Amino acid sequence: MRRDYYEVLGVSREATDVEIKKAFRSLARDIHPDVNSNDPDAEAKFKEAAEAYECLSNPESRATYDRYGFEGLKRGGFQDFSQFPFEDILRSFFGEGIFGEDIFGGRAGGGPARGADVAVAVELTLEEAAAGVSRKLAFEAVVPCGTCEGTGAEPGTERIECPACNGSGRVRTVSRTPFGQFMQTGACSSCGGEGSIVPTPCKACEGRGRVIAERELEVDIPAGIADGQSIRLSGRGSAGEHGGPAGDLYVKVGVAGHESLERDGDDLIYHQRLTMVEAAVGTTVSIPTLDGEEQLEIKPGTQFGDVKVIRGKGMPLLRGRGRGDLKVIIDIVVPRNLNSEQKELLRQFAETTTDKNYNSDTGLFDKIRAAFS
Ligand SMILES: [Zn+2]
Ligand SMILES: [Zn+2]
Repeated sequence: MRRDYYEVLGVSREATDVEIKKAFRSLARDIHPDVNSNDPDAEAKFKEAAEAYECLSNPESRATYDRYGFEGLKRGGFQDFSQFPFEDILRSFFGEGIFGEDIFGGRAGGGPARGADVAVAVELTLEEAAAGVSRKLAFEAVVPCGTCEGTGAEPGTERIECPACNGSGRVRTVSRTPFGQFMQTGACSSCGGEGSIVPTPCKACEGRGRVIAERELEVDIPAGIADGQSIRLSGRGSAGEHGGPAGDLYVKVGVAGHESLERDGDDLIYHQRLTMVEAAVGTTVSIPTLDGEEQLEIKPGTQFGDVKVIRGKGMPLLRGRGRGDLKVIIDIVVPRNLNSEQKELLRQFAETTTDKNYNSDTGLFDKIRAAFS
C-alpha cells in the first residue's frame, strides 16, 4: 500500500510550496541515510520522502495528483517519481558532491567510510582578491553528535554486541533453488553490518551518532586568487562514519568584475581614452591602480592601440613572489560636432603637415637629432 504523498511529508493538502520544501528539508535531515546508518530502513524512508517531494514540488504533477491520485500521475505521462534519482534532490538541499563524489561520502572498499565533501561559495572584490582576505564562512556538514560523542548510545549506556550476528556484522543465509542449495553471506540487517547495536539510543541524535549542523570556519584566502578557483581544506568536510576520515571542504571563489580594471591572468588592463590632440602633443594622465592613482606620461605621437606597461601594478602571483603588470591600452577619440571655425583651424593645420608627420618610421636623421636634443 503506497502512502499518500502529503502524509509522507506530514503536511496538509493546502500546504504552500515553501511549507512543502521546509517539511521535506527537516524530514530529510532526520532520515538522511548519512546520519542514519543504524536504521536499515533509512534509505527506503528517504526515497519515499524524496519521491513525495519531487511530485508535490512541481505544480503540474501536484495538481494531477490532487485530482486523480497515483493512477492519474501514471496516465498523465508523468515520470515514475519512485525512479527519480533522489541523490539529485539531496544535492540541491545539502550542497553539491564535488568531482563526482557522492554526497554520502565514499562507501566503497573496506574500513570506515570517509565523510562527504562539502562545497561553500565565497564572493570577493578584485581588491580583496589582490590583497588576500580572511572570511568567516558558514556551511552545513555532518558532525559527530556531541551528546554521545558519536557512539549513538545515550550517555551512561553503551553499545552492545549485536545478538543476531554475534558481533560479526555478517549473517549467512541458505537459499534453496531448483539448482541446489546456495550459501550466501550478507550484511546483518539487525545492526546494518556494524556488529553492535544501541539498546538505549542517544536522544540528541536518535542513535545515529552523527547530526547535520551549521558550522563556521575562518578561511584565509590567499592573495592572487582568480575567479572560479577553489581552495581545498582537507578534513574540514563532513565527519566520516564510525571514526572514518572526514571529507574535504571546498571553498569556491568568485571574483567580481572591477569598474575600471580588467584582469588578464596576473596582469591588469586599463583602457585610457585620449583626445586626438592629447595623443599628438602628449600629456600626463591619472591611472587608477589597486594601490591608488598613478601618474602616467603620454609621449607626443602616441598611437591608437599603443600599450603602456606599468610594471608591478598587476595582481600578486598566487604562487611565488612579485606581481604582474598593469597594461594601459590607448584609445583615441576623434572630436565630433565641430563648428565651422574649428573645422577651418584643422584644415589649416592639415596643410602644414606632410607625410613625415604620419610616417610610423622616424627617419635615421630624426633619431640622431632626437638623441642629441
Ligand atoms: Zn548522540
Ligand atoms: Zn548484527
